[in-house]
Amino acid sequence: MQSDYLDLTFPKQKHIALVAHDNKKKEMIEWCQQHAEILKKHFLCGTGTTARLIADATSLPVRAFNSGPLGGDLQIGARIVENSIDCMIFFWDPLAAQPHDPDVKAIMRIAAVYDIPCAFNRSSADFLLSSPFMDEEYTHQVMNFNKNVMGRFEDMKK
Ligand code: PGA
Repeated sequence: MQSDYLDLTFPKQKHIALVAHDNKKKEMIEWCQQHAEILKKHFLCGTGTTARLIADATSLPVRAFNSGPLGGDLQIGARIVENSIDCMIFFWDPLAAQPHDPDVKAIMRIAAVYDIPCAFNRSSADFLLSSPFMDEEYTHQVMNFNKNVMGRFEDMKK
Protein backbone atom coordinates (compact mmCIF):
# COMPACT_ATOMS: atom_id res chain seq x y z
CA MET A 1 0.00 0.00 0.00
CA GLN A 2 1.56 3.29 -1.09
CA SER A 3 1.59 6.13 1.39
CA ASP A 4 -0.38 9.33 0.69
CA TYR A 5 2.71 11.50 1.14
CA LEU A 6 6.32 11.31 -0.02
CA ASP A 7 9.33 12.56 1.91
CA LEU A 8 11.37 14.95 -0.23
CA THR A 9 14.58 16.61 0.92
CA PHE A 10 15.71 20.12 0.06
CA PRO A 11 19.52 20.04 -0.29
CA LYS A 12 21.88 22.24 1.74
CA GLN A 13 22.54 24.35 -1.32
CA LYS A 14 19.13 25.56 -2.38
CA HIS A 15 17.80 26.40 -5.82
CA ILE A 16 16.18 29.78 -5.21
CA ALA A 17 13.75 31.37 -7.68
CA LEU A 18 13.62 35.17 -7.70
CA VAL A 19 10.74 37.13 -9.24
CA ALA A 20 9.79 40.79 -8.90
CA HIS A 21 7.02 42.75 -10.55
CA ASP A 22 8.11 46.03 -12.14
CA ASN A 23 7.28 48.28 -9.17
CA LYS A 24 9.17 45.89 -6.89
CA LYS A 25 12.32 45.38 -8.93
CA LYS A 26 14.28 48.12 -7.18
CA GLU A 27 13.44 46.59 -3.82
CA MET A 28 14.44 43.12 -5.06
CA ILE A 29 17.81 44.41 -6.28
CA GLU A 30 18.45 46.15 -2.95
CA TRP A 31 17.47 43.00 -1.08
CA CYS A 32 19.81 40.85 -3.20
CA GLN A 33 22.65 43.33 -2.65
CA GLN A 34 21.98 43.29 1.08
CA HIS A 35 22.06 39.47 1.19
CA ALA A 36 24.63 38.76 -1.54
CA GLU A 37 26.94 36.88 0.87
CA ILE A 38 24.18 34.40 1.72
CA LEU A 39 22.74 34.20 -1.80
CA LYS A 40 26.10 33.36 -3.34
CA LYS A 41 26.07 30.03 -1.44
CA HIS A 42 22.98 28.92 -3.38
CA PHE A 43 21.84 28.46 -7.00
CA LEU A 44 19.78 31.38 -8.25
CA CYS A 45 17.29 31.63 -11.08
CA GLY A 46 14.54 34.05 -11.96
CA THR A 47 12.20 35.51 -14.51
CA GLY A 48 14.05 37.17 -17.39
CA THR A 49 14.18 40.84 -16.47
CA THR A 50 14.47 40.29 -12.73
CA ALA A 51 17.31 37.80 -13.21
CA ARG A 52 19.27 40.13 -15.49
CA LEU A 53 18.86 43.12 -13.23
CA ILE A 54 20.05 41.15 -10.18
CA ALA A 55 23.02 39.67 -12.04
CA ASP A 56 23.98 43.14 -13.30
CA ALA A 57 23.70 44.79 -9.88
CA THR A 58 25.35 42.06 -7.78
CA SER A 59 27.52 39.98 -10.17
CA LEU A 60 25.80 36.89 -8.73
CA PRO A 61 25.11 34.20 -11.33
CA VAL A 62 21.34 34.08 -11.93
CA ARG A 63 19.86 31.74 -14.50
CA ALA A 64 17.30 33.71 -16.49
CA PHE A 65 14.08 32.17 -17.74
CA ASN A 66 11.67 34.00 -20.06
CA SER A 67 10.25 37.28 -18.90
CA GLY A 68 7.27 36.75 -16.57
CA PRO A 69 4.56 37.99 -18.96
CA LEU A 70 6.04 35.70 -21.65
CA GLY A 71 5.84 32.53 -19.56
CA GLY A 72 8.75 32.87 -17.11
CA ASP A 73 6.52 32.32 -14.07
CA LEU A 74 5.19 29.13 -15.66
CA GLN A 75 8.73 27.90 -16.37
CA ILE A 76 9.53 28.34 -12.68
CA GLY A 77 6.24 26.63 -11.78
CA ALA A 78 7.16 23.65 -13.97
CA ARG A 79 10.51 23.35 -12.19
CA ILE A 80 8.77 23.39 -8.83
CA VAL A 81 6.68 20.45 -10.05
CA GLU A 82 9.87 18.68 -11.18
CA ASN A 83 11.41 19.19 -7.73
CA SER A 84 14.25 21.35 -9.02
CA ILE A 85 13.38 24.58 -7.18
CA ASP A 86 13.61 24.61 -3.38
CA CYS A 87 12.34 28.05 -2.49
CA MET A 88 10.90 31.17 -4.05
CA ILE A 89 11.23 34.87 -3.31
CA PHE A 90 8.47 36.66 -5.19
CA PHE A 91 8.03 40.40 -4.66
CA TRP A 92 4.62 40.79 -6.28
CA ASP A 93 2.87 44.09 -6.62
CA PRO A 94 -0.51 44.14 -4.84
CA LEU A 95 -1.35 47.58 -6.28
CA ALA A 96 -0.99 46.97 -10.01
CA ALA A 97 -2.89 44.71 -12.40
CA GLN A 98 -0.63 42.28 -14.23
CA PRO A 99 -1.27 41.06 -17.79
CA HIS A 100 -0.16 37.59 -16.68
CA ASP A 101 -2.26 37.46 -13.51
CA PRO A 102 -3.36 33.84 -14.18
CA ASP A 103 0.32 32.82 -14.29
CA VAL A 104 1.00 34.66 -11.01
CA LYS A 105 -1.86 32.73 -9.39
CA ALA A 106 -0.58 29.50 -10.93
CA ILE A 107 2.94 29.84 -9.51
CA MET A 108 1.59 30.69 -6.05
CA ARG A 109 -0.76 27.75 -6.15
CA ILE A 110 1.80 25.23 -7.35
CA ALA A 111 4.31 26.43 -4.74
CA ALA A 112 1.65 25.71 -2.08
CA VAL A 113 0.83 22.29 -3.57
CA TYR A 114 4.52 21.30 -3.48
CA ASP A 115 5.15 22.85 -0.05
CA ILE A 116 7.92 25.15 -1.28
CA PRO A 117 9.03 27.84 1.19
CA CYS A 118 8.01 31.20 -0.29
CA ALA A 119 8.35 34.84 0.61
CA PHE A 120 6.05 37.36 -1.01
CA ASN A 121 7.49 40.54 0.49
CA ARG A 122 10.76 41.85 1.85
CA SER A 123 10.27 41.12 5.54
CA SER A 124 9.23 37.53 4.91
CA ALA A 125 12.22 37.18 2.57
CA ASP A 126 14.46 38.33 5.44
CA PHE A 127 12.87 35.77 7.75
CA LEU A 128 13.21 33.00 5.16
CA LEU A 129 16.83 33.70 4.32
CA SER A 130 17.85 33.88 7.97
CA SER A 131 16.31 30.49 8.76
CA PRO A 132 18.84 27.88 9.95
CA PHE A 133 17.23 25.51 7.41
CA MET A 134 18.87 27.53 4.62
CA ASP A 135 22.18 25.90 5.58
CA GLU A 136 20.86 22.41 6.19
CA GLU A 137 19.04 19.66 4.42
CA TYR A 138 15.33 19.79 5.19
CA THR A 139 12.85 16.99 4.65
CA HIS A 140 9.22 17.82 3.98
CA GLN A 141 6.17 15.92 2.84
CA VAL A 142 4.57 16.25 -0.55
CA MET A 143 1.45 14.53 -1.79
CA ASN A 144 2.22 11.23 -3.49
CA PHE A 145 1.16 12.11 -7.01
CA ASN A 146 1.79 8.64 -8.34
CA LYS A 147 -0.71 7.26 -5.85
CA ASN A 148 -3.10 10.11 -6.63
CA VAL A 149 -3.02 9.37 -10.38
CA MET A 150 -3.40 5.63 -9.84
CA GLY A 151 -6.40 6.26 -7.55
CA ARG A 152 -8.03 8.56 -10.09
CA PHE A 153 -7.27 6.11 -12.90
CA GLU A 154 -8.98 3.29 -11.00
CA ASP A 155 -12.00 5.53 -10.17
CA MET A 156 -12.44 6.72 -13.76
CA LYS A 157 -12.29 3.16 -15.11
CA LYS A 158 -15.32 2.13 -13.03
P1 PGA B 1 10.29 39.85 -15.34
O1 PGA B 1 8.99 39.07 -14.93
O2 PGA B 1 11.33 39.56 -14.33
O3 PGA B 1 10.69 39.36 -16.69
O4 PGA B 1 9.90 41.32 -15.37
C1 PGA B 1 8.50 39.20 -13.63
C2 PGA B 1 7.02 39.00 -13.61
O5 PGA B 1 6.31 39.97 -13.82
O6 PGA B 1 6.55 37.86 -13.40
